[in-house]
Amino acid sequence: MIKVCKFGGTSMADGLTMRRVAEIVESDPARRFVVVSAPGKRFGGDTKITDLLYETYEDVAACRDTGPAFEKVCDRFRGIVRELGLPMDIEAVLQETRAAILREDTPDFCASRGEYLAGRIMAELLKVPFIDARDTIKFGADGRLDSERTYSLLAAALKGKRRAVVSGFYGEGKDGKVKTFSRGGSDVSGAIVARAAGADLYENWTDVSGFLACDPRIVENPAHIRALSYKELRELSYMGANVLHSESIFPVREADIPIRIKNTFRPEDEGTEIVPTSRYTFGGRVVTGIAGKKNFDVIYLDKSLMNAEIGFTYRVLSVLYKHGVSFEHIPTGIDTMSFVIDAVELKNGVLEEICREIEEAVHPDNLRVIRDIALIAVVGHGMTRSVGTSARLFAAIARAGVNVRMIDQGSSELNIIVGVDNENYERTLRAVYEEFFM
Ligand code: ASP
Repeated sequence: MIKVCKFGGTSMADGLTMRRVAEIVESDPARRFVVVSAPGKRFGGDTKITDLLYETYEDVAACRDTGPAFEKVCDRFRGIVRELGLPMDIEAVLQETRAAILREDTPDFCASRGEYLAGRIMAELLKVPFIDARDTIKFGADGRLDSERTYSLLAAALKGKRRAVVSGFYGEGKDGKVKTFSRGGSDVSGAIVARAAGADLYENWTDVSGFLACDPRIVENPAHIRALSYKELRELSYMGANVLHSESIFPVREADIPIRIKNTFRPEDEGTEIVPTSRYTFGGRVVTGIAGKKNFDVIYLDKSLMNAEIGFTYRVLSVLYKHGVSFEHIPTGIDTMSFVIDAVELKNGVLEEICREIEEAVHPDNLRVIRDIALIAVVGHGMTRSVGTSARLFAAIARAGVNVRMIDQGSSELNIIVGVDNENYERTLRAVYEEFFM
């Protein structure tokens, strides 16, 4: 049995929590490979090491030298090594790191040093080898993971080791420079290591006991989700349930490796298990979870006989493509079509320009923009099997006095997405939660 364990920023926040991590790892011989994040927040209002390192890069870019943010980084790591009583020459490592930051001179390199230093310290604490992700996780010229090289390099590095620590969050680009994943990307690194190790389980250790059926900031005490399928996870985390990076399922899914979310601070809690859809048991529930996000804009088009006009969608999409704008959903009717787009993509006049170009390209009878829309995704394989789910959903929203602005039932039948005005977001979430979970 091989388990790969990834520990997040709060689990790595200080010496005390790192010692806890070491105890968790050492309590189970199957926990062979450990992937670490950089130290995160120790308390509300604290700053993550990664954020301090991005600030460090700004200092380097502006003044050709590291500044106060890097001093804070050094103090955190000195403190951790002191708390752990490790015989490591942390001063020398920090000196080297500073020189490397000045030499390499990129934001990604700078940001990656949190995981690098945390990994070296954790390896020292566990008395096991450290594997630098730069040597083993490789990206291709397109910026995406070079799976073939990565898996063979990683497998070779892990081979024959009883235990090892791998730094999360980064790898090396085709240009030989360090490249990071997007924020929270150590989850992806953990999944890649799990795949390369041929693990039986990918344990993702964080500071919550798994997934909840709804955002606890909005719904009081939401139900705990014991098991999710990969697909449900993808839908929920894409829509804002951010326990796990939404891209971390791809490496493990291909190899059928289940993920278990565990809480470093309550290791006895069962957590949430994420399994391949084929191995998933429904347990009679209709909806697994509800998630959502605010701030989308919808471009709505109608044109008589749109359905018969060949190339209509193609021409609209060409406009979005030209502006490098990606869309989230395209709900369609016979003569209507809407493009739901994250409002961030449409700032600084981009929306106006796109609308003008769409008018020119397809001459719609009507083009309208609906702004400030929140999307709510109701997710669950169980919905396919039960009659009347949408009736219950929309009745609940109506009882809450909320007007539905948009509906999209994904072709997977795994989720129904409802668009409401931003201001009705919280109210709608609560109403839908009550309907399916209370
Ligand atoms: N340390 C990085 C971040 O804060 C990556 C991670 O923790 O997964 O985003």
